[in-house]
Amino acid sequence: MLVDIVPVGEVTPRVKREASGALRSVYDCDVTVHDDQAIPDSAFDADRGQYRAEDLIETVTRVGGGEKNIGITPEDLYYRRRNYVFGLAYLNGSGSVISTHRLRTSSDGGVSTKPAADVFGDRVRKEIVHEIGHTLGLEHCDNSKCVMSFSPTVREVDVKEENLCGTCSRLVR
Ligand SMILES: [Zn+2]
Ligand SMILES: [Zn+2]
Repeated sequence: MLVDIVPVGEVTPRVKREASGALRSVYDCDVTVHDDQAIPDSAFDADRGQYRAEDLIETVTRVGGGEKNIGITPEDLYYRRRNYVFGLAYLNGSGSVISTHRLRTSSDGGVSTKPAADVFGDRVRKEIVHEIGHTLGLEHCDNSKCVMSFSPTVREVDVKEENLCGTCSRLVR
C-alpha cells in the first residue's frame, strides 16, 4: 500500500516526519510526502472561522498519488455539527485529513511527563494512524489504549497508544 501525505498549508518538517514514520511503523506501508498545497479559500467558513474538513478531503483526493491520500493542515477543521475535529475520514475511503491545530493544546491531561514538543509529535502520529485506520475499514474501538478509540479531546489522544490493538490489527491484516 502507498500512502501519500498531502500537506495543506504550512506544515513543519517535523510533523511530516512524525506522520510518515508512524504510518510506516504501524501499517508497514510505503509513504510519500506530496508537494505543499495551498489551502483552498472555498473551504473556509467565515462565520465559524474554521475550514470544512470534507472540502480538504476533496482536495487531497484530487491531488494525492497514493492508494490512500491523507492531508495534514495546521488550520482548524470542523465537520457538520461538531465544533471541531482532529481529523476526518470516510470508512474505506481513499482520502482523509488531520488538523494539527488543536493537538498543540498544552494540556496533556496529566498522563505524560514528556516535553510539549514530544507530546505534540505523539498526537500527530496517533491521529494520522487513526484516520488511515478508518480508510482501511476500521471503526472506533472500545479499547481506550487502541489508536482506533474515539478521542474527542487531547486527553483521550494522550491516553491511547500509536498502535492498533490485537482485534483491530487482525481486521486490517
Ligand atoms: Zn475516528
Ligand atoms: Zn482496537
